Amino acid sequence: MSATDCGRLVIVSGPSGAGKTTLLRGVFQQCSLPLVRSVSATTRPPRPGEVDGVDYHFLTQDAFDLARQGGGFLECFEVFGRGHWYGTLLSEVTPSLDAGKWVVLEIDVQGAISVMQRYGDALSIFIRPASLEELERRLRGRGTEAEEAVKRRLNQAKRELTLADRYRYQVVNDEVDRAVQEICDILTQESETTRNAR
Ligand code: 5GP
Repeated sequence: MSATDCGRLVIVSGPSGAGKTTLLRGVFQQCSLPLVRSVSATTRPPRPGEVDGVDYHFLTQDAFDLARQGGGFLECFEVFGRGHWYGTLLSEVTPSLDAGKWVVLEIDVQGAISVMQRYGDALSIFIRPASLEELERRLRGRGTEAEEAVKRRLNQAKRELTLADRYRYQVVNDEVDRAVQEICDILTQESETTRNAR
């Protein structure tokens, strides 16, 4: 299936703490394209302030496994090797693509590579932190992670950075407004290219 016949998939990845969520909030406010965010499913518990159905669909392991066995996921992976699963539900993606929307998937690199293989024309953007030191500072500043979890996320970040060149675009989150603008410019330029190709 070609996603350009209807909507378009936009994959956004980057290390945990690189600022993806903040940047995407800005992009959703500023970009004039019909963007919708895919709400992922996860088995990890909600953090304080997170809302079921908004930040994630928080599922029990049993419910997640059932959806997986039933072919309900576009992709799903155990993201930090600690037993927490994350996945993109087809029900979040297919109806929006059919309606001509640009569906934004904020997913990890394993998920991203799997989606790129399935949708060759998916637009992929990797968000880089300004530096690993900055990333570490942000992860500690969140205050929601135990020391062990911070170390695990930093190691994961190093692994993810080695795969950044698999993405069509890389954006450095050195300054939020600038990075938001760069992402909006990429999306606009891609939409013009798609339109001209039709
Ligand atoms: P967090 O627990 O901090 O919300 O997210 C941890 C990681 O899971 C992030 O790197 C995020 O991109 C990734 N993630 C969130 N949703 C999905 C998903 O649906 N699929 C995959 N493969 N990764 C996801």
